[in-house]
Amino acid sequence: MIKVINSLKNSYKRIIIIFAAVVILAAFAGEAYKNRSWYTVYFENQPVAVTRVKPKKVYEAYGNAKAKLYSEGKGFSEDNIYIEETRTRDNSIEYMGETEIAEAIYTRLDDKEPILTGKTTQIFKYVNPYYVECEYVYDDTMYEDEMMMTQEEAPGTREVTVIETYYNGERHDRRMLETNVITEAVPREVHIGTIKRPEYILPVTDYILTSCFGPRWGTNHNGIDLAVPTGTDVMAAKDGLVIQAGWNGGYGISVYIDHGNGVITRYGHMSESLVSVGQAVKQGDVIGLSGSTGDSTGPHVHFEMREGDVAVDPSKYVSY
Ligand SMILES: [Zn+2]
Repeated sequence: MIKVINSLKNSYKRIIIIFAAVVILAAFAGEAYKNRSWYTVYFENQPVAVTRVKPKKVYEAYGNAKAKLYSEGKGFSEDNIYIEETRTRDNSIEYMGETEIAEAIYTRLDDKEPILTGKTTQIFKYVNPYYVECEYVYDDTMYEDEMMMTQEEAPGTREVTVIETYYNGERHDRRMLETNVITEAVPREVHIGTIKRPEYILPVTDYILTSCFGPRWGTNHNGIDLAVPTGTDVMAAKDGLVIQAGWNGGYGISVYIDHGNGVITRYGHMSESLVSVGQAVKQGDVIGLSGSTGDSTGPHVHFEMREGDVAVDPSKYVSY
């Protein structure tokens, strides 16, 4: 009795296995049939359509996923052709019947996944401004801590040619093909000084040296005399603090500057003092105007340098 039941069970198993095999084979066969009868149509290496009929030519494919597809079949000539059917994205079949058509326009099914890919390129030109980098010029007529802009920058214009590639009307990429300068850009030009700034400078630049430091007329000349026209700018020899300004006996109108390192400079016989006691000045600042006040025989600047109370030859600090 147990044996009979077992053989019955085996029979059911066999039937189920055979049925399953048939189903699987049928599925394979159906798939094979489908695959055999479809052609994917390419245009410029992009799939643009799927069709039952092997196409002879695809003449164009363009934006918004539309393609003009010419196909050949069933004895029609190229001038008299038809599309039997096309396949949509979800593999359902759109029948076009036996209608004779010269072209079939395939449109995408939705915006997200077009069945057709149309590729277009567009070349266009536009003009835009451009700038060039600043130019630095090392200048041996300026001190190393000085900078001066000698030329303001100005943009140039250039024509740019770009090529854009669109798939289904959407821009895919953009490349620059060439640029042509129409007007040259002007760089900003900046001069940078290279001369090491001297610790001390002379109070005037264009002068005649009329008297040196040392013994003169039986006494000692405590500075140097620099002859310049009356009214010439007199500059501070170095940064410092004004400790005397105004009338000062034999010096006439004078200015004394304490440079904070034990060195004091004196400027005598001026026609006018332009600073006041306690004022901080920078090297090169105009502290007064030259003249011939006090014990003076003609317009000049008496320039004196002292280390503490002792007058020293200015050539120790500045060349003249
Ligand atoms: Zn003098």
